[in-house]
Amino acid sequence: MDEYAKLSINQITTRDQWSLAEAITGYGRHGIHAISVWRDKLLELGIREGARMLSDAGMTVTGYCVGGLLSARDDAVFQERLEDNRRMIEEASTIGAECLVLIAGGIEEGSRDIDGARERAKEGLALLLPDARAAGIIIGLEPLHPMVCSLRSVLTTLEMANDWCEELGAGDELGIAVDVYNVWWDPNLAREIARAGNRICAFHVSDWLADTRDLRFDRGMMGDGVIDIEKIREMVETAGYAGYSEVEIFSERNWWRKDPDDVVETVKDRYRRYV
Ligand code: ZN
Repeated sequence: MDEYAKLSINQITTRDQWSLAEAITGYGRHGIHAISVWRDKLLELGIREGARMLSDAGMTVTGYCVGGLLSARDDAVFQERLEDNRRMIEEASTIGAECLVLIAGGIEEGSRDIDGARERAKEGLALLLPDARAAGIIIGLEPLHPMVCSLRSVLTTLEMANDWCEELGAGDELGIAVDVYNVWWDPNLAREIARAGNRICAFHVSDWLADTRDLRFDRGMMGDGVIDIEKIREMVETAGYAGYSEVEIFSERNWWRKDPDDVVETVKDRYRRYV
């Protein structure tokens, strides 16, 4: 059996080196047949052309990044964000993505109302569920590390993601994306992964560098940090997840500066040893 059959690479891992077209051919050249796609890269290539290339290359699209940012208080801004997310649902459908990854959004400038931001984001998510259902797209709700709560996501724990899914009474159109970088520190991780069960629609891997220097762009390669990735993968599989492990590394000081072919080979090596 192909030992990389369940390995996907999120194209952010080669953000500064490769366009989407280059990532599709580059990953394929190294025997990787699954990718997660970012919107700016897709729009640069063209949605139709991107869809055609992904399909011709036989790429499984494990995710489309990144929707959400729904916490705005201002109604006009909130409506614009909803419309933009509806376009992303269509785009995700066009490229055959397994899910649209969605993050809640942070706290607006000048605001100190975290509870209000959480309510607003949940309200926005509820309004998008019918669109996702109609398009046959799963929204992969991804809680982020509390470190980026103010900037990117007031949804900070897997417990809260599970609560939202229950409170919204959502069906299959709402899943949860478990990213080890965001949740590894959580003392309730095992309990909440088990609770998420079949809702888990994506599993993202990277590592937490003990001396991390940036809130977003200093993720480590698997094996270079402190996360027991294999243990968390076993938890999600025990919970019922049978999909890909998607390598997602934002790395301004290291991996975005390296030769992309070397990055992909390193990903494969570390995947075998640490995922
Ligand atoms: Zn992620």
